[in-house]
Amino acid sequence: MLLLKNGKLLEGGKLITKDILIDNKNIIAIEEHIEKENVEIIDLKGKFVFPGFIDVHVHWREPGFSHKETIYNASRAAARGGFTTVMPMPNLNPVPDTYDNLKIQLDLIERDSVIRALPYGSITKGELGEDYAEFDELANHVFAFSDDGRGVQNANMMYQSMKIAAKLNKAIVAHCEDNSLILGGCMHCGKRSKELNQKGIPSVCESVQIARDVLLAEDTGCHYHVCHVSTKESIRIIREAKKAGINVTCEVCPHHLISDENDIVEATGMWKMNPPLRSTEDRQALIAGVLDGTIDIIATDHAPHATYEKELPMAESAFGIVGSETAFAQLYTYFVKTGIFTLEQVINMMSRKVSEIFDLPYGKLEVGSFADIVVIDLDKKETIDPNKFLSKGRNTPYAGEEVYGIPVLTLCEGNIVYQDNDSL
Ligand SMILES: [Zn+2]
Repeated sequence: MLLLKNGKLLEGGKLITKDILIDNKNIIAIEEHIEKENVEIIDLKGKFVFPGFIDVHVHWREPGFSHKETIYNASRAAARGGFTTVMPMPNLNPVPDTYDNLKIQLDLIERDSVIRALPYGSITKGELGEDYAEFDELANHVFAFSDDGRGVQNANMMYQSMKIAAKLNKAIVAHCEDNSLILGGCMHCGKRSKELNQKGIPSVCESVQIARDVLLAEDTGCHYHVCHVSTKESIRIIREAKKAGINVTCEVCPHHLISDENDIVEATGMWKMNPPLRSTEDRQALIAGVLDGTIDIIATDHAPHATYEKELPMAESAFGIVGSETAFAQLYTYFVKTGIFTLEQVINMMSRKVSEIFDLPYGKLEVGSFADIVVIDLDKKETIDPNKFLSKGRNTPYAGEEVYGIPVLTLCEGNIVYQDNDSL
């Protein structure tokens, strides 16, 4: 048994100091004072205790791309960021489009991950958009279906996939990108792409596919979840779709809330991600989307790459930045400390709301729930230093930034999966 003493818990918007008793995988008591002998005790000294975070969008790169990231490193990086459940995307080699392929990934997770990882199955074979993945044999073993990394180009293919997913009671989680509208771009098509003389990806590249898909979701009744929304038009479409009663949800990444095209000083690979950082107006629309509930959850799109794939001019670099180890601290620093979002909003969007929209038994801090817990020192300040990342990926444009709100202890099913010994 493990007893966490003197943690501050968020209950009904208030912070209350309590003790938490854990037996095996579960929380068995949360009370103001718990006295128990012969148990391991950690005194949290008034630090903040939240449900372990859930990230529905990570790239763990194995099998197939262990030069970028490994499940061993990625899971420890996620634990350091306070995550206890993550959903690895299927743009792997082999792509988990059959049970046999998925089994390779499941075995690696079983062997190397310190936290819970629930992989996606792909929507199409090899994510090539030509033939369907084996939905039936995958359904019982995957979190949902996605072709993340690319959009499903053919409308009927998306239509049929949604029909099948609805029958199997699984969500379609869509990376929305119309290939005919990428136009060879490497950053947002706007003011900065002109100034930096780079080819731009227009906002419609994302939004037209979301518009198509919400109508397909309406017709099929499928739970349609949009990955990493980045444009104001995407927000408008999703807001209207929700009003119309369509079963659509969406996520936003910390970097799209924090930064926009104007932060791109130089056209280097570190600022290259997909979708790209859009205009200030788009970024403001995303913040408004969080505030009015159009945006349901936060997801990192943790996308590690090898240094040689990112230390390049923007046009030649790979897309993506890492996010697992900086997500909460950045959101806390830029949005909670400044009074734009409440602490509760951010925590919920990283835990309870994720569970609600996907009907998962995680993201709760209650007697009987899994002991998935993150302890955060909200006053602790750190400078983002990629050399200290547990992830193999060092690709972040935020190196050197000062952030507050550092996870110091993470438990997954009662096991300590990350501990900052200097802080506890
Ligand atoms: Zn994506």
